[in-house]
Amino acid sequence: MKIIIKSKYVSKYKKGYPLINEETKSKNGDILTLVDENSKFLARGYAGKQNKGTGWILTLDQEERIDDKFFDKKIKEAVKYRKSFFESEVTNAFRVFNNEGDGIGGMTIDYFDGFVLINWYNKGIIKFRGEILKAIKNNIKYKGIYEKKRFGDSGTYVEEDEFVCGNRASFPIIVKENNVNFAIYFDDGAMVGVFLDQRDVRRKIMERYANNKIALNTFSYTGAFSVFAALGGAKKTVSVDLANRSREKTEEHFALNGVDFNANEIIVEDVFNYFKYAEKKNLMYDLIVLDPPSFARSKKFKFSANKDYKDLLKQIIKITRKNGVIVASTNCALFNMTKFKEFIKLAFEESNKEYEILESETLPRDFKTLKEFKEGNYLKVCFIKVK
Ligand code: SAH
Repeated sequence: MKIIIKSKYVSKYKKGYPLINEETKSKNGDILTLVDENSKFLARGYAGKQNKGTGWILTLDQEERIDDKFFDKKIKEAVKYRKSFFESEVTNAFRVFNNEGDGIGGMTIDYFDGFVLINWYNKGIIKFRGEILKAIKNNIKYKGIYEKKRFGDSGTYVEEDEFVCGNRASFPIIVKENNVNFAIYFDDGAMVGVFLDQRDVRRKIMERYANNKIALNTFSYTGAFSVFAALGGAKKTVSVDLANRSREKTEEHFALNGVDFNANEIIVEDVFNYFKYAEKKNLMYDLIVLDPPSFARSKKFKFSANKDYKDLLKQIIKITRKNGVIVASTNCALFNMTKFKEFIKLAFEESNKEYEILESETLPRDFKTLKEFKEGNYLKVCFIKVK
């Protein structure tokens, strides 16, 4: 199906912007040809509704067909780009294919010690499932392949049998990241136990920030940051998460790495309640990790990173020791690093405190992004010293 692009948007697509914004009547998975108002070819893509887009561009080359060969080439290039990851002796969990960053929006492929997990983010890309699976089988040495559909109404997760082929894994799959072990479950919802995009942040915490520190990990999930802090020499870690499962999953991560979980506290609690408790008891921390979900709703509180990050940071500042470090992180795609740093500035101004951003991080190398699509580089992390 053809889509005529208004002249003011033509240059955007020519420059390599990957997301199709125009409304179309085409069906999911249809091939779309973008042309200018003189019917001149601009790009070819596929239809698949996802967030604000109606599809993704696949090629700017009029001669290129979207067929077996196309998908094989994309996956091959992606694998080649991650050669050092495939060969790593210390890390065997990483992203092999990252959406539009690798040339096909709407799909990611992660690798967990030979088990491959595909995430499908819209109903269009899945029409090419056959071609993509073939390309994966041709280019990746795998033990087993699994998939997850992430396109329920509102971008949620669709429950289904997720095994595709090869050998079935027995869960948890124990993987390593910089020689630290993680337990991975494909059979427990959309989240598998660890967010691979924080790998470099975890390493920095272990290598530079944790030694001899008392650390608080808020929104701690399975305690990945706490494990790295403990292994980096933290005197103590405190992990706070609302979800009941966080206790056993965090204990499991401590146990897998020989960390004494009796010496490291795990608290199942709303972090907003925990702040009140900490203030009342005058608890102070040297290192605080703050990595909330972009949106969260608990019984008493509602949080949206875009609106509330600054206030959350103010609560954290109150319980951070002088010269302590806050690792402030967000995966919210609604604002960029500049805006994030403004939130930080305001939070400190309103707290009458001085600070210094020691360093910052965005997505790691395996989460390849396009410079033409800044929204794709959603991760923002600042290491902030409280003066
Ligand atoms: N920082 C974690 C990932 C966080 S995922 C890591 O990198 O491993 C988001 C977590 O926030 C989930 O585990 C969820 O249970 C928790 N959460 C959401 N709202 C919360 C709240 N109000 N208090 C405590 N935890 C909350």
